[in-house]
Amino acid sequence: MKSNNKKLHLQTKVIHVGNEVSNSSSRDITQPIHLSTTFERNEDGTMGDYVYTRADNPNRKLVEQKIAAIENAAEAISFSSGMAAINALFENLLAPNSHIIIPNDCYHGTRALLHKFFTQKGVTFSEVEMTDLTLIENTVETNTKLIWIETPSNPQLKITDIEAVVNIAAAKKISVACDNTFATSIIQNPLAMGVDFVMHSSTKFFSGHSDILGGIVLAKTITEKSTQIREYQKIAGAVPAPFDCWLLNRSLATFAIRVPLQNANAMAIANYLHAHSKIDQVFYPGLISHKNHDIATKQMIGGFGSIFSVLIKGSEKDALQFASKLNLIKHATSLGGVESLVEHRRSVEGDNPISPVNLLRFSIGIEHVDDLINDIEQALV
Ligand code: PLP
Repeated sequence: MKSNNKKLHLQTKVIHVGNEVSNSSSRDITQPIHLSTTFERNEDGTMGDYVYTRADNPNRKLVEQKIAAIENAAEAISFSSGMAAINALFENLLAPNSHIIIPNDCYHGTRALLHKFFTQKGVTFSEVEMTDLTLIENTVETNTKLIWIETPSNPQLKITDIEAVVNIAAAKKISVACDNTFATSIIQNPLAMGVDFVMHSSTKFFSGHSDILGGIVLAKTITEKSTQIREYQKIAGAVPAPFDCWLLNRSLATFAIRVPLQNANAMAIANYLHAHSKIDQVFYPGLISHKNHDIATKQMIGGFGSIFSVLIKGSEKDALQFASKLNLIKHATSLGGVESLVEHRRSVEGDNPISPVNLLRFSIGIEHVDDLINDIEQALV
């Protein structure tokens, strides 16, 4: 595509960036799936654009170009899952015996990766209440190499002030990375706020249909570290398959219309639940009652997302019973899809669960909001 990508609106970027398929002899409008794992050399023996699919593939290149353009990143490096993307960042930013600061409420897989594997290399980690900036500052050690932000956090939707953390880290020459999965690029751009790397589980909103796994690392600028992560992708080989990239590209085309609808539905349902007598608390950054609604308003420029958690009045059994009474909203893990889901988080958090026993996390889809509220209403009686 010859036009300047940076000038395009998001709705146009998600359809056109990287979609240079009309050069092929068949002049496709959408990119075909390139399943070939190997590519023929030029007649003079030199390599062409592609050599071997672990190193690169046309379907992968397209989604990487598109996602880099969506979030105005210098480059996007894709992986076979969100966890593979997090692992690539940790492998390349955390030297043996270094230290990392993570939020005390964050995706349990991130914590488990550090706890089960990186501690074996002498890496230490501190789980910090990231709404307390002084605490973050006081937790920095001489060997701290990375501050990991997840905002809104999973599952308590805590909000971290991204710019404030970037300032703390810059003063101490520490890298900052942000898991932007919950917010999405439509809502929040941590790279523009000074974060070095952004990570997404593209399994969630980029995919939007609960049918592929994927992960993305976005780099603000091309640096020695980003080049190293690109190399790590190719050599360690946790790369997404061409079919998954093709599906992801197809899903991205509707990203800019799915997410705003999901956000609007979530806002309406969060307000409904906030006023409901059987609900103790709603964690949603869009509610004025949220502890850091003001910071969310400052940095979540495109809405407040479509994930919220609630504390049901009652016990774990009451929470599980409510989840099982829902008909449209299925009780299942994951989030970001067009279909609404609810999940009792504590039961999937593994060895060291952190969620309250009566917490249920909702991921709101694009169904009609009245149908979703009716479903919740009949389950709460
Ligand atoms: N980060 C967050 C916030 C998540 O919710 C998840 C998965 O639920 C991940 C990372 C890991 O992504 P994946 O399941 O694609 O490996």
